[in-house]
Amino acid sequence: MQVKRNILLNPGPSTTTDTVKMAQIVPDICPREKEFDELMASIRRDLLKVVHADPAKYTSVLFCGSGTINIDVCLNSLLPKDKKILVINNGAYSTRAVEICQYYGLEHIDLKFAVDELPDLKLVEKTLKENPDIALVHTTHNETGTGILNPIRKIGELAHKYNAIFTVDTTSTLAMIPIDIEKDNIDFCMASAQKGLMAMTGLSFIIGNTNEIIKSKDYPKRSYYCNLFMQYDFFERTGEMHFTPPVQTVYATRQALDEYFVEGEENKWARHTRVYNAIYNGLKELGFKDVIKKEWQAGLVVSAIYPDDKNWDFDKVHDYCYERGFTIYPGKISTTNTFRLCALGAIDEEDIFDFFDVFKDALKEYDIKVPVYYKEN
Ligand SMILES: *Cc1c(COP(=O)(O)O)cnc(C)c1O
Repeated sequence: MQVKRNILLNPGPSTTTDTVKMAQIVPDICPREKEFDELMASIRRDLLKVVHADPAKYTSVLFCGSGTINIDVCLNSLLPKDKKILVINNGAYSTRAVEICQYYGLEHIDLKFAVDELPDLKLVEKTLKENPDIALVHTTHNETGTGILNPIRKIGELAHKYNAIFTVDTTSTLAMIPIDIEKDNIDFCMASAQKGLMAMTGLSFIIGNTNEIIKSKDYPKRSYYCNLFMQYDFFERTGEMHFTPPVQTVYATRQALDEYFVEGEENKWARHTRVYNAIYNGLKELGFKDVIKKEWQAGLVVSAIYPDDKNWDFDKVHDYCYERGFTIYPGKISTTNTFRLCALGAIDEEDIFDFFDVFKDALKEYDIKVPVYYKEN
């Protein structure tokens, strides 16, 4: 069976291999069977390996849902009574964490920084010092809305210095940028299967400190479906998800993990870097300006500012590329109009060279001047 190969340059889901796509075609199975439990157990074990987590100290817990479920679960489950969350916020995904705090009515501090700036660690430390009731610090590793990479190791160090746990939204770095959970001072990290792992949508997972999960048994229960201890405990006792898992996605994830270990952490990151460089250089060549200083970029997302050319029309350019098998994506910054090209997925630099051929044709088709025009230069 031949499936058309599309090149997804959006920030997930990502382009998958045919073998991962086909891994979903399995005989029907009830997910309460032992065979399926063993499959999930193997995934839980292997996820620890992806972030070099010692199984004596860390565990992984699977959920059925998109990546946001992980942020929801961590924040609502890991906050003790009468304590506070500190969100270090320089982008759309940390803002999402703040909104989760608001929806659950969790005491929190929204420590905001500009979306194109790294957080000021002195201010982070000052906030921790002045608020000894902060029990949980949360931030985003790669703010996928802009592509800025936050200094998580240093933030984690500060969190621990002030006796808080550190949860990190690593949805758009895990299984791409090498992560060492302990060295990076992370207590909980997370992702969904369709991003770095290049599997399908519907399965998400949290990797974190087992003792902290066990401690959270006595914390206020704020959600019935999205509680970390509940799901962990059910896995430990039965080997199953509390509620129905995304069965076929789980099979695809198994295949994707196998392919991850065959490619290897270093080679995979080198490939993403090649793709990113091809994107970065391709956009530069056409005169596009990016939002984030190059040295602050995670090396996975380039966020380009809309040119001031009167003929520029993102939707038209998008549709032209889409019809030819390439997906580009709008930005996620409220103050500047941007679009994004991302280096996720089972693609390599040749795909990006092919993309730019099509992209240039689109610019020509709609009479958009190259190098692209900006009012102020
Ligand atoms: C993709 C992503 C998520 C999850 O988004 P969903 O739409 O729920 O899958 C969360 N955080 C970051 C940083 C992401 O890139």
